Amino acid sequence: MKNELLRELPSVDELTRDEGLKEAASLHSAALVTEAARAALREVRAGITSGKRSAFSKDELIALTLSRIASMTGPSVKKIINASGTVIHTNIGRAVLSKDAVDAIVFAASNNTNLEFDLVSGERGDRDSLVEEKLKRLTGAEAATVVNNNAAAVLLTLNTLAEGKEVIISRGELIEIGGSFRLPEIIKKSGCVLKEVGTTNRTHPGDYSKAINNNTALILKAHTSNYRVVGFTAEVGLKELAEIGKEYGVPVVEDLGSGSLVDLSEYGVPKEPIVADSVANGADIVTFSGDKLLGGPQAGIAVGKKALVEKLKKNHLKRALRADKLTLSALEATLRLYLNRDTLVERLPTLRHLSRPLSEIEDTAVKAVRLLEAALGKGYVIMIEDGESVAGGGSLPGQGLPTKVISITHIELGPHEIFRNFLNNDPAILGRVNRDRFLLDMRTVDDPSSVVPSGC
Ligand SMILES: *Cc1c(COP(=O)(O)O)cnc(C)c1O
Repeated sequence: MKNELLRELPSVDELTRDEGLKEAASLHSAALVTEAARAALREVRAGITSGKRSAFSKDELIALTLSRIASMTGPSVKKIINASGTVIHTNIGRAVLSKDAVDAIVFAASNNTNLEFDLVSGERGDRDSLVEEKLKRLTGAEAATVVNNNAAAVLLTLNTLAEGKEVIISRGELIEIGGSFRLPEIIKKSGCVLKEVGTTNRTHPGDYSKAINNNTALILKAHTSNYRVVGFTAEVGLKELAEIGKEYGVPVVEDLGSGSLVDLSEYGVPKEPIVADSVANGADIVTFSGDKLLGGPQAGIAVGKKALVEKLKKNHLKRALRADKLTLSALEATLRLYLNRDTLVERLPTLRHLSRPLSEIEDTAVKAVRLLEAALGKGYVIMIEDGESVAGGGSLPGQGLPTKVISITHIELGPHEIFRNFLNNDPAILGRVNRDRFLLDMRTVDDPSSVVPSGC
C-alpha cells in the first residue's frame, strides 16, 4: 500500500511541468521552482513512509510547492501592530520613526549626499558633522559623535579613554540590559579592568575616592534603566562624582541608556534623566540611544568635552562602529523636530504615544470594541478596562502609565490561544496576556480598525 502510493508520486520534472506551476516558473528561476517542488515531494514522501499520510493529490503537491516558493521569495520583514502596552519595545524594533525621518531615509537612500563630503572645500568631511551642531544645541555639550547603538558608544568610550586601565563603577550599577548587554562584560571587552566599589544598595563618595589610584582611567556611572534599587539605599549623584573626578583628574562618563532630550514631565510623563542635565552636572562624556526615548533610528550617541570626543573619533574602532548614511539622515531629521517644541509631540510618534491623553486612548478603545464585536462573533466577551502601559526601552522602570485596555475572553479559548490567533493575523496584532485575560493596550494604536483580525 505504502509502496504503491510512493510509486504514484510524480517526478520533480513532471511536477514542475504542470500547468499549476507554469506561472510560478515564469516569475522565478527554474532552479528555485525545482528546489521547492523537490522539498514538497520530500515532505509528502516522508508522510507516506511514516504512515501519517494515506493519500495525496496533485493539487496538494502544487499547493505545497507554491507555498514553499512563497516562503522562499516573500519578504521576511512582517508588520506588527503594537497593542502590547510597551511603547518602546526592543523586540519589535523600538521607536517608530516620524514621517520626517522616514522621508529623510528615502532621500538619502535614493541620492548621493554630502555624507562625508565638505561642499565648501570640496574635500573629505566628517560624517558626524551632519548631526553634531544639533546635538550640541540640544544637549549643551561641546562635541558629539554617533555610532551604531548605545552599546557601541559605551564600548568606544571605554576603549578610547581607559584601555588597559581601571574603570571605577558602583556595584549598584553593574547592569544587564536585555539582549546580553552586561556592563562588566562590555568593560572587559573594551580592554579595561573593572573596579567595583560600594555595595549593591549603597555607595558613598569615599568609596570612589579611595578606589582611585595611578592606574585609574575613568569613573563610570550607569543609569539603572530597567530596575530600581529601593529601600535602604545611597547613590553618589553625577554632580558629586564630577567633583571627585575633577579633584583627581579622572574623567567621569555617564551611560544614560535612554536619555531624553526634553523634560518628559512637561508632557505629563514621569521624568527621565535628561542628557543636557548630565552635561550641565559635569559629565565628561554622556552616552545614550537614538531609538529609545529620543524616538529616532537605532544609534548610539556620545556627547561631551571636545578633547575627549575628538579622541573617540580618532579611535580606529570608530570606523568599525560608525553609523551609516540612512541612520544619520533619520537621526538628523529627528533632531530637527526637537528644535520646534510646539510641534514635537504631534510629529514624534514615541513622544505622542508616551504622552497620549487618557481620553483619546479611551476613544480609540470604544471604536475598536465596536469593530471587534462585529468581527469576532459569538463566544467572546469584550470589555474596556483601566490598565497600565510601560515606556520600555530601559526607561521609567517600575512606573506605569495609566491607559485603557480592551480585554478579550472567550467561553472556550484560553487567553494564550487568543493571543496566538491575533498574532497569526496578517498583519500580526501583538497584545499581552495578564491574569487570564488577553489584553489590547490602545495607547500605541492610532487606527482602531488595525486591531481587528481580518480572518475571523
Ligand atoms: C539600553 C541601554 C543600553 C544599550 O543601548 P542600545 O542602544 O540598545 O545598544 C546601554 N546602557 C543602558 C543604561 C541602557 O538602558
